[in-house]
Amino acid sequence: ARIEADYTAGLRRAGPREEAEPVLAGGVAHHSWRMSPFPVVFARGSGGEKWDVAGRRYIDLWMGHGSLMLGNAHPAVVEAVAKQMQLGQHLGGAHVMQYAWAERIRELVPSCEYIRFTASGTEATLLALRVARAWTGRPRIVRVDGHFHGWHDEALAHALPKKQSGLNPGVDEFITLVPPLDTGAVLDELAERDVAAIILEPGGGSAGSLPWSTQYLATLRRIADLHGALLIFDEVISGFRYAPGGVQALAGVRPDLTVLAKIAAGGMPGGLVGGRREVLSVVSGGLSAVNEPVHVVHAGTFNGFPLSAAAALATLDLVADGTTQATAERVTCTLVAGINAAAEAADLDVRAIHQSSIFHLLIGALDAGDPISPGTAAIRLLRERAADYATLRRALLLEGVDCHMSHGWLSIAHDGPLLDEAIGGFERAFARVREL
Ligand code: PMP
Repeated sequence: ARIEADYTAGLRRAGPREEAEPVLAGGVAHHSWRMSPFPVVFARGSGGEKWDVAGRRYIDLWMGHGSLMLGNAHPAVVEAVAKQMQLGQHLGGAHVMQYAWAERIRELVPSCEYIRFTASGTEATLLALRVARAWTGRPRIVRVDGHFHGWHDEALAHALPKKQSGLNPGVDEFITLVPPLDTGAVLDELAERDVAAIILEPGGGSAGSLPWSTQYLATLRRIADLHGALLIFDEVISGFRYAPGGVQALAGVRPDLTVLAKIAAGGMPGGLVGGRREVLSVVSGGLSAVNEPVHVVHAGTFNGFPLSAAAALATLDLVADGTTQATAERVTCTLVAGINAAAEAADLDVRAIHQSSIFHLLIGALDAGDPISPGTAAIRLLRERAADYATLRRALLLEGVDCHMSHGWLSIAHDGPLLDEAIGGFERAFARVREL
């Protein structure tokens, strides 16, 4: 209650007229949820810092939902986008930057022989599933429980009650969920049903809370080949963050289709599906794998948007050799060690873990119901201890640290004094929580 009162008193802003005259549905523009009783409203950001409308400074551990490996407003990205803007932001038709962007992606992720751009990651998974169905002539998709692929109906099938959520009531019929790391369940499904594709986050579901394994990915590759289904890697999170070539490069497993967005679009709106040439050819008609005529509709005003291409090319140049990823991961290790030391000193039941340059906060103890990894517990705890996560987030905001409710992303911009400041912010936030 004290932290909530401090939050309300300390961070309430006259800035937006939102509370007097609501204009944004639910009070925020993006996710369905917001901080209660009001969101912190940001005005600008630079590197690993950002400022709210009243000029309060925060260490940014949100990093554009993981889309920023270089921090906000990196000079090379700003320059590239500004230069492109001078030349016109949208020329209709094909654009020279789209070819350069696609070639750069293919250099770094060679399984992306052919590429189609979309305006977001959600659109890219939608396209990948549609392409898979058209190519194989089969209706079903296998998805891995806990893995996220955006907010279209097929990506959310089985997750929500249909009537309340507004999802297509028929969507569950053609989507099967299998538990993570369970190759037997995938094998059964592919052997018994008309499965077009299995889609998963190869770097682990839920921003890397669920574990990944090279052996699992290699086995999925074999099972998919055995049954003529496609293997789709959603590397929206892991692409260019875990490694320049994504998890597929780390694991040495080549998917049929790859979905990329976030860093792949230079932290700007955009996504893409890349993959086998003959498979992606279905977007321009022709014949499917079973020699039937196909015609996949793919349209979109902002597909391959030139400003996103400019940001992407500038970003991909800077993340191509692996040093960016190594720095961001080193910084994340230090942050996690600092958070854990601070939690221990404060005698709080909080623990941080990390995967690549993403960290996760666990409030509460692991139990026997978390057999797969500590990260599995993060998902359970986030649900069970929602009020505590919200309290910690308010305390962190009061101490000038902003991250997602249970996790955060780092970048090369956090290397240096910001890191010590972030750890200091956690220490002070933990002290506030202890006073509860
Ligand atoms: N796939 C994964 C793995 C994601 O994490 C996300 C977004 N966080 C998406 C797809 C959807 O991407 P977007 O938000 O650009 O629609």
